[in-house]
Amino acid sequence: MSATVLGIADDRALGSSLRVVVTRPGSLLAAKAAVDEVVAAIDAAASRFRPDSELSLLNARPDQVIKVTPLLAQAIAAALRGAELTAGAVDPTVGSAVRLSGYEADFSSVAPRGAALPLVAERIPGWRAVRLSESARTVVIPRGVELDLGATGKAFAADLAAAAAATAISRGGVLVSMGGDIAVAGDPPKGGWLIQASEDSAAALSDAEETISITGGGVATSGTTVRKWTRGGEVLHHIIDPVTGLPAKSCWRTVTVAAGTCVDANIASTAAIVMGAPAVAWLERQSLPSRLVDENGSVHRVAGWPDPAGRATRSS
Ligand code: AMP
Ligand code: MG
Repeated sequence: MSATVLGIADDRALGSSLRVVVTRPGSLLAAKAAVDEVVAAIDAAASRFRPDSELSLLNARPDQVIKVTPLLAQAIAAALRGAELTAGAVDPTVGSAVRLSGYEADFSSVAPRGAALPLVAERIPGWRAVRLSESARTVVIPRGVELDLGATGKAFAADLAAAAAATAISRGGVLVSMGGDIAVAGDPPKGGWLIQASEDSAAALSDAEETISITGGGVATSGTTVRKWTRGGEVLHHIIDPVTGLPAKSCWRTVTVAAGTCVDANIASTAAIVMGAPAVAWLERQSLPSRLVDENGSVHRVAGWPDPAGRATRSS
């Protein structure tokens, strides 16, 4: 049996690793160029670490009607849709809570250890405070609200980049991974795209890890074990519970979800960390195949996530 030959390009973008895979190696350069264009546009529109990004300029001008680019309007709409779908568990108004919890620069610049932070529990402003008119392409954010598109932004970039690359190469298929947030488009390889579900997107490929095969849509992973830091002896991480404005105290440490788009997968994976135990029933209701790793390392598979032992996945 001959092995499938794929074209693979690795890079870094949006503060994460970027991987582009194509089923026809001859189309790799065209696919990568299309991906780079989308990623650069998203970075300029929605990065919270670039003072000159459209998002930073928007955050600096509260209470004003701001005209935004179609791309930022779409990215904000995706974030607000995530809030609506999850009853506010995923909410882009986490901006200042994320920053006050110590995640105030690109993650590579966040010190692993430091002095205690003056953390105060306070509900975040809430997504309903944001007024977006998609038709007029205007946004108003009230004073005191900082938008953070971190949960949906990378996934949105992966979806758009995969679609753009599939158009650019016209034949074959493409996979785009933005730090483990994965979108695929075009014709999948035989047997589908095999995605390894690891707690760290930087983990090496290994037979010991579980995989899922997808032929379209996306897969996303959210977790508390990689983007974390210690302040005054307390371990903090990057997923905020909107009710307390503090890093979520979840029974899950890693959640991986497959969905029709990477954005939908990511909305669900971040929400599941915030929701805790009720996430299982919520994911079942949404029919989103998911793999949840609890704080002890036990794996829970729901809504048809394949069981590596071959048993049918139990609905819980
Ligand atoms: P993800 O890795 O996809 O789960 O997204 C986490 C990122 O989204 C964090 O690094 C923050 O920038 C942002 N974030 C943290 N908590 C939330 C939340 N509850 N809702 C929306 N975005 C969040
Ligand atoms: Mg993610």
